[in-house]
Amino acid sequence: MAYRSLNPFTEQAISHFDNHTDTEVEAILSTADALYRSDWSKGDVSARLTILEALADLLVENREKLAQVMAQEMGKPISQGRKEIDLCTSIARYYATNAANLLRPQPVANDIGEGWVEYHPIGVLLAVEPWNFPIYQLIRVIAPAIALGNPVVFKHASIVPKCALLFEDILRQAGAPKGAVTNLFISAAQVAELLGDALIQGVALTGSEGAGSKVGARAAEMIKKSTLELGGSDVFVVLDDADLKKAVSAGVSARIANAGQVCIGAKRFVVQRGIADDFISAFVTGMKSVMMGDPLEEETQLGPLASAEALADLCQQVESAVQNGAQVLTGGKRADRTGFFYEPTVLAQISKDNPAYYQEFFGPVAQIYIVDDDQEVIALANDSLFGLGGSIFSTDINRARLLASQIETGMVFINTPTTSRPSLPFGGIKRSGYGRELGESGLLEFANRKLVVIAASH
Ligand code: NAP
Repeated sequence: MAYRSLNPFTEQAISHFDNHTDTEVEAILSTADALYRSDWSKGDVSARLTILEALADLLVENREKLAQVMAQEMGKPISQGRKEIDLCTSIARYYATNAANLLRPQPVANDIGEGWVEYHPIGVLLAVEPWNFPIYQLIRVIAPAIALGNPVVFKHASIVPKCALLFEDILRQAGAPKGAVTNLFISAAQVAELLGDALIQGVALTGSEGAGSKVGARAAEMIKKSTLELGGSDVFVVLDDADLKKAVSAGVSARIANAGQVCIGAKRFVVQRGIADDFISAFVTGMKSVMMGDPLEEETQLGPLASAEALADLCQQVESAVQNGAQVLTGGKRADRTGFFYEPTVLAQISKDNPAYYQEFFGPVAQIYIVDDDQEVIALANDSLFGLGGSIFSTDINRARLLASQIETGMVFINTPTTSRPSLPFGGIKRSGYGRELGESGLLEFANRKLVVIAASH
């Protein structure tokens, strides 16, 4: 797609950007590769960690500006944008503080002699990122790459070019040398080309299953390491002994945050019969009372969807769900106002043969399922093509722990919605993709874990 900035609240175009030419891409790649072959990549980690420390400070300084650009370019409410930047700051600081220790060689016991594993960079990485968390998605890949010494070229989503340029500029101010982190305005075809280039050693993609399968297949064809962070249809389980007030308030915010465009957003509400009437009634009331409005206004909780295409897709999905028997408890249509707004929506009575049952709804649309016992909770939670996250609300922690171990996803949270923190490995299984970002796992995904062994003299 062509790069363009359009305000989803006003529906007015802001600006357009030309794609980089193949010649420009080649030059950017060889600069990045030259950096990989320099002392910057191969030398002491502390110089690179200084950049992350400066990046954290600059994110604090530019917090308001970044939150405003996100609001204008993809509709994120300003208060949520600030929280995103705070998380990015903590990720930069986490790696600045912990990477040196995490990258220390690790001894390995064996019968030959002294052995250890060292962690080295592997070369230039390509990051392909989505628009829903325009800065967080970048930093999840870029902060560990800087710590390790892998230069990154990134292709951001075509609807957030200003976020891409602003982030690149902040990194330059933080002292990242030329070639360390470079924005590319390129097409899907150029991504495929780039993956064929010997200078690219790996690709990290966050996005849809469609993009993931194409990029993953191309990476496999060229024998390049890849990580895929794809969609999700996370369960939000409410057991019959849950704290009702807490579960309702967490459920509403977990479904409407970022206008529901969150891979780990609560999407399937699995509620036990004993608490179902009370939960559903309070949850529907909560969804109806969400404050929809201008993303730049402080009190706005629900902004527009990020694009006209996202809105059209969601309208079509809900219509199809209803045609196939789903009951609309509230919402169910585009909001009657300018901007790509969709009403907070709750759907019930979704049978297994309804296409909605296995779909991800990337917007403020909740699905409600009522179940009788804990076995049914697990059966329904695991009857999904996805396996990203999930949460369980219960006052019986032992019971919740047992269920958490049986849910087939990469992450489960108890008594709090699925979320992200710098030290917590983030990622999924099944069609949600493979690999982990953040924490120690994210730091080592694109490391050469090099074994060295010295034979003992006898
Ligand atoms: P998308 O269409 O797949 O776009 C993601 C990125 O991939 C964009 O930069 C896009 O570029 C690029 N892209 C699309 N098709 C491509 C292709 N054939 N080859 C190379 N690059 C390609 O995803 P989206 O609709 O923007 O994002 C929503 C999806 O991402 C949801 O399913 C959501 O759950 C998932 N997501 C997952 C996570 C996670 O961590 N697991 C986090 C956030 C979002 P263009 O913009 O130019 O098309």
